[in-house]
Amino acid sequence: MKADVAVLGAGIVGVSIALHLQARGRSVVLVDRRGAGEETSYGNAGLIERASVIPYAFPRELTSMLRYGLNRSAEAHYHLSFLPKIAPWLAQYWWQSSKERLAEASKAMLPLIERSVVEHESLMRDAGIEPLLRRTGWIKAFRNPAKMERAIADATALKPYGIRFDVLDGDELRAREPHLTDVLIGGVHWLDPATVPDPGAVAKGYAELFVKRGGRFLAGDAKSLAERDGGWTIQGAEGPIQVGQAVIALGPWSNDVYRPLGYRIPLAVKRGYHMHYRASGNAVLNHPVLDTDGGFVLAPMSRGIRLTTGAEFADRDAPPTPVQLDRTEPVAREIFPLGERVDPEPWLGRRPCLPDMRPVIGPATRHKGLWFAFGHNHHGFTLGPVTGRLLAEMMTGGEPFTDPRPYRADRF
Ligand SMILES: Cc1cc2nc3c(=O)[nH]c(=O)nc-3n(C[C@H](O)[C@H](O)[C@H](O)COP(=O)(O)OP(=O)(O)OC[C@H]3O[C@@H](n4cnc5c(N)ncnc54)[C@H](O)[C@@H]3O)c2cc1C
Repeated sequence: MKADVAVLGAGIVGVSIALHLQARGRSVVLVDRRGAGEETSYGNAGLIERASVIPYAFPRELTSMLRYGLNRSAEAHYHLSFLPKIAPWLAQYWWQSSKERLAEASKAMLPLIERSVVEHESLMRDAGIEPLLRRTGWIKAFRNPAKMERAIADATALKPYGIRFDVLDGDELRAREPHLTDVLIGGVHWLDPATVPDPGAVAKGYAELFVKRGGRFLAGDAKSLAERDGGWTIQGAEGPIQVGQAVIALGPWSNDVYRPLGYRIPLAVKRGYHMHYRASGNAVLNHPVLDTDGGFVLAPMSRGIRLTTGAEFADRDAPPTPVQLDRTEPVAREIFPLGERVDPEPWLGRRPCLPDMRPVIGPATRHKGLWFAFGHNHHGFTLGPVTGRLLAEMMTGGEPFTDPRPYRADRF
């Protein structure tokens, strides 16, 4: 089996790259050990986060740090035994989260964030799955008036970026979400982001479009990637695959492949869980709602109401410890009448994170024909299609729509 390019990883990032390369005339093989969009890209909250102009930084307020330190917060949890291992990464993340460096990261991410919804729209239209796109935004809700005031000030500061939002008092919030309880005193409704009720189905829809247009989606282990005869080979389940170029788009597993090749890119994971619930009685939820004080998102999904948790710092491959979910479930019941659990077990996902809060997108610096696209942090679902465009433009010698230097691999 021969092709111009092998894209390793069929999450939202890999399938989007495969489609964009194919659209530029390349013969492409997409390789995964599972089906498309069955890992991190399946279980997220489904937000295409056009309003997330400021990346999620390490909290610098003493109260938050103390809360995290006590390991009692819903937003963040850690395995004590993992702390020595992750400490250098957390130190880098903390350093990158200063006001000045965060401003730099925001500036670097803006060109990608700005195009996030339009790039999804275009692929969804082509894939015939546009009905999955909800253009109704999401709501950041509050229990605490002081927190809400601060959030309104932060939101107002985003107006120069053209970000639109409505500030809702309790009654206005319940006019849009009649089944939220009065534990919530109000919210900020972000109007520009889009959301989807099944992010895994979106990745699958894109992969189906890729195959319909003549692409090949093959089973194989990306760890078999080897340089050969000026190109690359991968052991596919049905035999060797020979390509001129290869793209590592393996999300949180990318280091399994780039590390043996000698790259020291500080990829870590922030684990997160989800569980689906039935709504009690006739209750409905119209938008994803972030309970800012509770530290979780409730999102209306095809499978039920999806509760997603904050970050867990633990070894990527350690067994699940869904304490945040157990802590959060009763708190979530305070704001919405959740019924019984739908899934037999909590789902565990791993956000692929880099400490400067931006992904690696671009050429591997020491290997010809090798490319990287991973580390999209909290916004990989948002940024999959725009990453596909940028990398394909770089790989095919086109004019990149934005300066790719902030995402280069050798910045660490
Ligand atoms: C709880 C939670 C909520 C989130 N909410 C949002 C959100 O609302 N909006 C948003 O934008 N982002 C969100 N994210 C982040 C987002 O889900 C990720 O950033 C994104 O899915 C990463 O996509 P990916 O394609 O890089 O990785 P993945 O989707 O993980 O894809 C990697 C692929 O590589 C394959 N693979 C791995 N190893 C091998 C191997 N050796 N051989 C072959 N194949 C291999 C896997 O099978 C998988 O298909 C959330 C994440 C979590 C955990």
